[in-house]
Amino acid sequence: MPRFRSILETMPTYKPGKTVVSPEGKSYKLSSNESPYGPLPSVVEAIAKAATEINRYPDPGATRLTEAIAERLDVPPGHVALGAGSVAVAAQILEAVAEPGVEVLYAWRSFEAYPLLADLAGATSVTVPLRDETHDLEAMADAVTPRTRLIFVCNPNNPTGTVCRKAEIERFLDRVPEDVLVVFDEAYREYVRDADVPDALVYYRERPNVAVLRTFSKAYGLAGLRVGYLIGQEPVAAAVRKTPPPFSINHLAQAAAVASLQAEDELMARVESVIKERSRVREALIADGWTVPPTEANFVWLRLGERTTAFAEHCAGYGVAVRPFAGEGVRVSIGDPEANDAFLAAARSFPR
Ligand code: PMP
Repeated sequence: MPRFRSILETMPTYKPGKTVVSPEGKSYKLSSNESPYGPLPSVVEAIAKAATEINRYPDPGATRLTEAIAERLDVPPGHVALGAGSVAVAAQILEAVAEPGVEVLYAWRSFEAYPLLADLAGATSVTVPLRDETHDLEAMADAVTPRTRLIFVCNPNNPTGTVCRKAEIERFLDRVPEDVLVVFDEAYREYVRDADVPDALVYYRERPNVAVLRTFSKAYGLAGLRVGYLIGQEPVAAAVRKTPPPFSINHLAQAAAVASLQAEDELMARVESVIKERSRVREALIADGWTVPPTEANFVWLRLGERTTAFAEHCAGYGVAVRPFAGEGVRVSIGDPEANDAFLAAARSFPR
């Protein structure tokens, strides 16, 4: 019998968002925070062109994409580290810092992948509960020990949509030792409209122990192609570039991400539509008597406790797939107006 690492027996598994179909054949996927829009024609064209070249390996350094991101964000190309989705970049970061005994700190509940990636890398997770559905940065700073090497701050937080603001972030960063890497996971940054939520690139420019994680999966609509990146100062970015297997960003993904950066105006117009729908959905839920934390991401959070699974099953009957976290609550992505209406109808008819 082959032998495997014992951690595999206890490690949580990642439960991806599902698709469901109603008895009438309706299906609305609001379970993975994807863009509801199909790819832009210019992006499809770039992918089609790249497809004629796939007998060759991709550019291992993803040079054009790295330069396009660097130019867009006004950072040196050496400060960019790419991965096959930001979840892969998070794994690369953990590979770069983890050793037995090393602690990784994050809020909980937050992005589901942190505990499993930490386990896999051989690090110890230390979690700090959310307070009022929001990161408790004071308590997180208190939880730092001499063994802490990495802190994830998911801003906006998945699955609650809540944010950390300027003053508390600055107090927190001032308290974190300089040899602890703080990664702001900004997968949903493009959806933030609260002016008091700083773009963490500001802090990376001032502090060598701060890095920012971003993705092409959400606002840029390339979830199926897997492109994410870290921005960090040279030693951080260089370490994170060392840990993935070679060629991890495929040729089609590189081409599509470059084309998406060239089509940013169109993509950001789509983000605006999602933000309008976000307000409409949240206000409708509140009018119906639900408690919905303010959200700066492309989803809403309903804390349903013991009724979580029943609610998700009820929505499935309407063809609406939501993301249940058993015993805690349900995260519902903002989709197109038809999908959002289907969700609101489902929520309205849930027996309470
Ligand atoms: N970070 C957060 C906070 C997320 O919610 C997600 C996607 N669910 C990711 C990272 C990973 O996204 P991707 O790997 O598609 O870039």
